[in-house]
Amino acid sequence: MMIPRWKYIGIAGGFIFLLHLLASIHPTYRASTSPFNLLPAGGWKAGQTPPDSAVPVWGGDGLPSADDLRENGAVIDERRRANAVFVVLARNSDLWPFLDSMRQMEDRFNHWAKYDYVFLNEEDFSDEFKRYTQSMTKGKCHYGKIAPDHWYQPEWIDEDKASKAREEMIRKKVIYGHSVPYRNMCRFNSGFFYHHPLLADYDYYWRIEPSVKFFCDLNYDPFLVMQDEKKVYGFTLSLYEYIETIPTLWDAVKEFVQEHPDYLPEGNAMQFLSDDGGETYNKCHFWSNFEIGDLNFWRAEPYTEFFDYLDKKGGFYYERWGDAPVHSIGAALFAKKEQIHWFEDIGYRHEPFQHCPQGEAHTRGNCWCDQGNNFDWEWYSCTKRFVDMF
Ligand code: GDP
Ligand code: MN
Repeated sequence: MMIPRWKYIGIAGGFIFLLHLLASIHPTYRASTSPFNLLPAGGWKAGQTPPDSAVPVWGGDGLPSADDLRENGAVIDERRRANAVFVVLARNSDLWPFLDSMRQMEDRFNHWAKYDYVFLNEEDFSDEFKRYTQSMTKGKCHYGKIAPDHWYQPEWIDEDKASKAREEMIRKKVIYGHSVPYRNMCRFNSGFFYHHPLLADYDYYWRIEPSVKFFCDLNYDPFLVMQDEKKVYGFTLSLYEYIETIPTLWDAVKEFVQEHPDYLPEGNAMQFLSDDGGETYNKCHFWSNFEIGDLNFWRAEPYTEFFDYLDKKGGFYYERWGDAPVHSIGAALFAKKEQIHWFEDIGYRHEPFQHCPQGEAHTRGNCWCDQGNNFDWEWYSCTKRFVDMF
């Protein structure tokens, strides 16, 4: 009997299919084709730490989560960690400049620390934004939308008054003086980001901006420094604020302090802000494009009351109050000065200023910044005032 040729092909195909089915049940086969394909069959044994290259990126679409990996026997990370996260406010158009910052954060610190990221935006993040950011880290990336109430200029702001103020600032050539979105951003960073649901379960955050530089390897975990030493605010650079952006801010601060003297602990950092015991503001602030902070400090009564008080004054729109002076004043007044930490060994640049660690710290961190290019002791820096408080 003749069997037609196409039937041979069918029989052979069926046989190959059966072989695959059988093989796929076998553990070694599974180890090389499943999403866990970088793990040895049976997973990693206790006490055996997989090399970095063996831990796949997790959390992305179709990839195993850290918990999945643990269930499969992987010892992914036994070191002590803080309950902390990176926070990034960004537009979709910030993708490439942000990846520049993120790549450096990963290379200097997070490739071993493996903290997660929270991205916030008043619009939806694009698939492209999500894909490129998630693929850069082994941490999980979360993407959140900002509630309109937390972002846009409130109804009760007198738009006539606000637009006149903006025109005046354009005339005076105040940086971002024309911009409403910039004001939304400053107000959001001042008083709303720490209320975002994606941050609800975290205690500490590290803010990262697009196009910044991290110059040095971090061989310790700054979040644990915050936690173990009960710090509430960490900075690298400080400077003077443009007075045109905050002409009445200090008046509002003084009114608030008069109403709530009990919010100011003994030994706070008023000296950093004022040279005359609080009468006038010397305009010093921590540069908030870098900050490592305690979310619960912002969420606690003194600062939330403080922000509400300032917000009602309308100065975020009638002037151009920045989140840097608002955070700095809040931290300096409502915390003890020892709770504010200068991260002297974190080399950092946000145009046009940089902090470059000096001497031994430069060597320890394999820093690549020029030690001669360091803003700390320049006349426009406030860091000497900070150091002189101790
Ligand atoms: P600068 O550092 O004061 O010059 O201000 P940036 O332009 O760097 O903005 C500060 C941060 O807010 C950065 O992380 C920006 O990505 C983010 N940002 C600024 N404006 C907007 C905006 O309109 N929407 C969103 N989602 N993010 C913004
Ligand atoms: Mn910036």
